Amino acid sequence: MIVYDLVCDAAHRFEAWFGNSADYEDQQARGLIACPVCGSGTVGKAVMAPAVPAKSNQQGQRASLANDDPMARLLMLQRAFEASSDYVGDRFAEEARAIHAAGEARSVHGEATPEEVKALREEGVPLLPLPFRPRARSDA
Ligand SMILES: [Zn+2]
Repeated sequence: MIVYDLVCDAAHRFEAWFGNSADYEDQQARGLIACPVCGSGTVGKAVMAPAVPAKSNQQGQRASLANDDPMARLLMLQRAFEASSDYVGDRFAEEARAIHAAGEARSVHGEATPEEVKALREEGVPLLPLPFRPRARSDA
């Protein structure tokens, strides 16, 4: 899945998820993408916003958008989550167990096999499946 920042002809910006860039091209060409604010089908890719946007009005716009759009809400959840949790890759089971044993309040995420998840659950280690795949970290 990839997310695009899109903009309609009335300058409403929104985010939309697609299986891949060809899906986007296809749906866009067939007019299947509509603005969630005004319903306009004239939609194109927005110029990407800077990584650290100005705080002022952008913030409010994002918050209200997240209230109506489950995908935007999911994305915000993912960003907040990634900021507060360490990605440990396939060492997840090991790390989660160590944190649980030490009673730490630290949060980690990563990959685990179904067997590892079952074992962790049986040991009483709290864990949750993520509704998204963690993005690879360049600094991991
Ligand atoms: Zn619009």
